[in-house]
Amino acid sequence: MGDTGPIRTTCAYCGVGCGITADVASGAGREVSVSGDTRHPANAGRLCSKGTHLGETVGLEGRLLHPRIAGERVSWDRASAEVAERMRACIAQHGPDSVAFYVSGQLLTEDYYAANKLMKGFIGSGNIDTNSRLCMASAVAAYNRAFGEDVVPCSYEDLDAADLILLVGSNTAWCHPVVWQRIEKTRARRGTKIVVIDPRRTETAEQADLHVPIAPDGDIALFNALLARMHAQGLVDAAYMSAHVEIAPDFWDDLACDPGVDPEIFEALCALVAAHPRMVTLFSQGANQSVCGTDKGNAIINLHLAMGSINWIGAGPFSITGQPNAMGGREVGGLANTLACHLGFSEEERRAAAAFWNAPVRCSGPGLKAVDLFRAVHDGRVKFLWVMATNPAVSMPDSAVVREALARCPTVVVSDVIADTDTARHADILLPAEAWGEKNGTVTNSERCISRQRRLFDAPGEARADWRIIADVAAAMGWGEAFAWKDAASVFREYAWMTGLAQARGKCLDLTHLGDISSADYDALEPFQWGGARPLASGYPTPSGKARMVRVEVPERVPDAEFPLRLNTARYRDQWHTMTRTGLSPTLSQHRPEPLLEVHPRDAARYGLVAGGLARVVTRQGRAVFRVDVGEGQRPGEICVPMHWSDAMSGEGRANRLPGAQVDPVSGQPGFKNSGARLEPV
Ligand code: SF4
Repeated sequence: MGDTGPIRTTCAYCGVGCGITADVASGAGREVSVSGDTRHPANAGRLCSKGTHLGETVGLEGRLLHPRIAGERVSWDRASAEVAERMRACIAQHGPDSVAFYVSGQLLTEDYYAANKLMKGFIGSGNIDTNSRLCMASAVAAYNRAFGEDVVPCSYEDLDAADLILLVGSNTAWCHPVVWQRIEKTRARRGTKIVVIDPRRTETAEQADLHVPIAPDGDIALFNALLARMHAQGLVDAAYMSAHVEIAPDFWDDLACDPGVDPEIFEALCALVAAHPRMVTLFSQGANQSVCGTDKGNAIINLHLAMGSINWIGAGPFSITGQPNAMGGREVGGLANTLACHLGFSEEERRAAAAFWNAPVRCSGPGLKAVDLFRAVHDGRVKFLWVMATNPAVSMPDSAVVREALARCPTVVVSDVIADTDTARHADILLPAEAWGEKNGTVTNSERCISRQRRLFDAPGEARADWRIIADVAAAMGWGEAFAWKDAASVFREYAWMTGLAQARGKCLDLTHLGDISSADYDALEPFQWGGARPLASGYPTPSGKARMVRVEVPERVPDAEFPLRLNTARYRDQWHTMTRTGLSPTLSQHRPEPLLEVHPRDAARYGLVAGGLARVVTRQGRAVFRVDVGEGQRPGEICVPMHWSDAMSGEGRANRLPGAQVDPVSGQPGFKNSGARLEPV
């Protein structure tokens, strides 16, 4: 593309959202050397192994380069017309709710905006959901319940100033490594105490001042017991609560409970929390990926509200996301239960959104969340499915059912960068999308910082930006005027203006100052946080202006004689999702070349397993064979496998065939952790 100078962009992977400086070699090749952007507030020049080796993943091997219908190469006009015709026929015969989009935190905000506008404004259904549902939907629901809006009340600078950091369900050293480096720096500088609350003794737990090894889903018992203890000792901040918190009169009744951990460890935790109100709780997938994930989030938030440990530097409940733009999707409306820009589905909000879009219909209400969406595909209620930039055949729980659903669906459209994914094999129509390094737009990281992803290379073949693929289909449906954007900047401007609807309803999300941003200024946009460092400091966006402490109950434990072990799934340091990108890097594959079953020595002996041998994990949903890794990292009775590989050792199954599709009743997030399992020697 002719631009050979350093280009500032953002990493393709996790929600830390590190800034990258990319040096693209001159010439027609795709050689790029990557380093950390010293001016980006998320990382100040640091990168982890995945970000550092991004240059190894930008080759064209396996790329989808041309639109295809039933495997045959076709023109873009023909492909867009075919998608539109099938969608139009489906809507005419079965109604708008027979159509669904399943999208991704890999999309840029502009792509998300276009997809959401097409579905909720023009098709007239709420049936767009995102793979972020699998990642942090429970944190969204918890924030909404407590604050009245999905607002992360913290910033990374809080990690620099905290006296105590609680890491809940987070192997931060592996999954958000640059945040971990920041925490280590804070600890070295000011002696910050680090507590890891996790059933597994992870690499992060090894380095903590205190590891609190809860049982799977033991978070609520621990946080309720901790909160009850702080209340009993008179350590809650009565002045803060009186001014800023709504609480039921009977909230404290019978809150005290068994914390579920060794009493000495619990006492040590209580002492740390009592002594350090400047406390950040960083919570991640171990908390969210649970059938009680929303309640866990509120149990954490309750502690912060009661202690007044929120909205001042170094204090707050901080959910950290998995994907590079999960947050952008949350803002724009990529979740089926958000209309757009933090708006709900009241008649008044739907009317306002439809008027803004000049849309022909009003979306009838919330759509199907991911697990329910694929169930609806499976049982024939959804007959047209468009999957964008994600691989649900591998990543969804109970993936055997998801594959059946894809096989049965009359029309499956897949827009992606890779030609042959497990999901693409089910596609009737394949649409080639731009990859990282070719895309141009914005992402939002875990601290609400919006950054630019910039183009490094020309798109190969006929690959197009996702927002443009969507706009072309909309035009083929007859709605071209409403989707006539000429570039990513014009999509962003429209989105920025639309946040005015949220702002007018007292929400914190407000980008209207960028509604007239010029294309040149958009190109040069520096990273910035919407809402500032502490967006809730001047009040909560609830009707009363106060936050809500939501009473949550400890879930009942039901023993399962047939599947007596508890199975967790986890990430490896150097792999990402279903490995469609990191699997291309030889360097990254060296860290853990194969998936390992982690098992405690007592369980290994009980099931006749030896280190380095093979074992089969069996659950109600599926079975998979793994090489055995015996160690003290797991508690007795608990096992863990990684989520990345699409096929485990024998080809018999894959890790995500193992968890069931039970979901949190509030957020709809699947409970990937804590599935009943048993082991068999192979
Ligand atoms: Fe990329 Fe996350 Fe690593 Fe930063 S911490 S370089 S965003 S993978």
